[in-house]
Amino acid sequence: MGLVVQKYGGSSVADAEGIKRVAKRIVDAKKTGHQVVVVVSAMGDTTDELIDLAGQVSPIPSGREFDMLLTAGERISMALLAMAIKNLGHEAQSFTGSQAGVITDSVHNKARIIDVTPGRIRTALDEGNIAIVAGFQGVSQEKKDITTLGRGGSDTTAVALAAALNAEVCEIYTDVDGVFTADPRVVKKARKIDRISFEDMLELASSGSKVLLHRCVEYARRYNIPIHVRSSFSGLQGTWVSNDSQGDRTVEQAIISGVAHDTSEAKITVVGVPDKPGEAAKIFRAIADNQINIDMVVQNVSAASTGLTDISFTLPKAEGRKAIDALEKTRSTVEFDSLRYDDQIAKISLVGAGMKTNPGVTAGFFEALSDAGVNIELISTSEIRISVVTRADEVDQAVRAVHTAFGLDSESDEAVVYGGTGR
Ligand code: ADP
Ligand code: ASP
Ligand code: MG
Repeated sequence: MGLVVQKYGGSSVADAEGIKRVAKRIVDAKKTGHQVVVVVSAMGDTTDELIDLAGQVSPIPSGREFDMLLTAGERISMALLAMAIKNLGHEAQSFTGSQAGVITDSVHNKARIIDVTPGRIRTALDEGNIAIVAGFQGVSQEKKDITTLGRGGSDTTAVALAAALNAEVCEIYTDVDGVFTADPRVVKKARKIDRISFEDMLELASSGSKVLLHRCVEYARRYNIPIHVRSSFSGLQGTWVSNDSQGDRTVEQAIISGVAHDTSEAKITVVGVPDKPGEAAKIFRAIADNQINIDMVVQNVSAASTGLTDISFTLPKAEGRKAIDALEKTRSTVEFDSLRYDDQIAKISLVGAGMKTNPGVTAGFFEALSDAGVNIELISTSEIRISVVTRADEVDQAVRAVHTAFGLDSESDEAVVYGGTGR
């Protein structure tokens, strides 16, 4: 029997009962003869509560202190989980990300893992322990400061450890039975996907299906670690994310894997930019120099009479203020008229590798939105994805309409949500 990495999300360890339930599951895995490494998230909505608390003492807290604060959430759950396991008569030791050898770069709040040196975890396992690791955190190689990996980052910790320890599988336990064709909180008739390729999962994750983090899937694909997403509340088989599903795609794989939505982004429009070479470069250089990731970009055709154009782009709401400040500072070199900030937007994406070879998917997508009375503001595509931006208050209705239009609705209501607040 080999080694398994199991990750339990916040909703699975929301209270003492949850921690005890999870401890039993972990002990069961150990009893089958596996070496077990567990990555755990902060209890329930602890991370959100810590963020709110920080906001009450400082509007823009320092990255270093913010990370120090947030990592406390995972420290609580890891220690409690180790205690609960010991209480069941099994040996367990908890480790912070730093102790577990999760080495990152120095970008606070969204650090990238650059190396994993799990010497202490190996030793703990060899001594017969279950190793519990705090998710979502590491230590910067350069400054030795504590870092966090960005929201949902425990998924990435789990896959990174699975890769470094050569695990058989990385199991991601959450509050739904797997990856569905849409968020089960929004679409009651969403269907569970049994197998999905890394490729489609990457697009779903980067389009807002927060059941798995994009970076975690990217990591798993690079090291070819199969991920099994399943519920910690039921005994059901979940969704396998791996390379294998590509082989049987032609027989089994639907044209469309699913519909994702994202309400975490905002839109900035730079109004009245001179339509000449170099202007867009200056605007996006200012954004990049502030470590802000952008998503969609659209530039309008300039009006012949003025030679001016508008450039719109989307970015995480959390970076909105920083981006506006950065753009204001470019005024001396880019002569734009004004800036518009809109955080009442949603992005809806249709994902599926089958769309490469099936004409009409884009038309069907737009028709479904139009039938639902939803207006499209921005459009972007990749080979296997189409995304649109709409008003935020239309998102649920739009997702359901698209899900139905592409024949994804299930007969039964199998999309159970066991816990969590959806926050
Ligand atoms: P955890 O606390 O376990 O990390 P998350 O809240 O990060 O859990 O992720 C699980 C949630 O992801 C589900 O409760 C569900 O609302 C949401 N979700 C969004 N899209 C999907 C999807 N396509 N399939 C399953 N869950 C999804
Ligand atoms: N606790 C962190 C968060 O809420 C990390 C995680 O849950 O993966 O984002
Ligand atoms: Mg998560």
